[in-house]
Amino acid sequence: MILDLQQLTAGYRKLQILHELSLHVDRHEIVSLIGANGAGKTTTLRAIAGLIGTMGGKIVFEGEEIQGQRPDTIVRSGLVHVAQDRALFGDLQVWENLEMGAYTQPRSSIKGSLDEVFDLFPILAERRKQVAKTMSGGQQQMLAIGRALMARPRCLTLDEPSVGLAPNLVSQVLDAIKAIRDSGVTVLIVEQSARQALAISDRAYVIENGAIVLEGTGAELSDDPRVREAYLGM
Ligand code: ATP
Repeated sequence: MILDLQQLTAGYRKLQILHELSLHVDRHEIVSLIGANGAGKTTTLRAIAGLIGTMGGKIVFEGEEIQGQRPDTIVRSGLVHVAQDRALFGDLQVWENLEMGAYTQPRSSIKGSLDEVFDLFPILAERRKQVAKTMSGGQQQMLAIGRALMARPRCLTLDEPSVGLAPNLVSQVLDAIKAIRDSGVTVLIVEQSARQALAISDRAYVIENGAIVLEGTGAELSDDPRVREAYLGM
């Protein structure tokens, strides 16, 4: 197990959103967390990344409790988050955004990391000198993921990587996520478009009102009548 949330309680000021939420991610898995708008998916990832405090429970990464640690400490320990808004440096070029992602890494490793990201997303190599904000939504998503990989994570968390993308780009991004998993990085992904997330997931959890209500393999959940009705529109 690489990441283990144990009865995690978290929220905003006094507003509790996550209620003793437990889930785990094994090494080299893609695990997705699916659920309706407002169920607490983003809050879960923000808590893991140290962007919001926790109110109770534990977040264990590679055997160490990380709840309460600073976001940059968590990045340095190998757990890197890609936020839904992507948070790119819009006025900087593609390669500059990527280099920024390597701020925790020795300079000597940057060239190798860049080559890996360019292998995964050839479009970023072609457009390395393009200003980030002038790229399409799909390319910006690839850049956000590429920038996260520059920190050489062992576990990547992705908040709705397919949101707002044209269907052909969604499959490109999801294929890249599989390639990232195959390269040895564990992935926890949050998605509202459950169908595609389940298709690439080794396992998945369903979150409702801040707690896990179902779990299974991607295939099991795709076949579950409750999931089909509530999340797959069937
Ligand atoms: P979405 O797909 O809409 O992002 P989600 O499952 O990711 O949904 P969260 O973003 O985690 O849901 O939100 C869970 C709840 O927390 C919602 O009721 C939301 O209104 C509330 N919430 C989110 N951010 C804040 C905040 N900064 N302050 C107060 N409440 C917030």
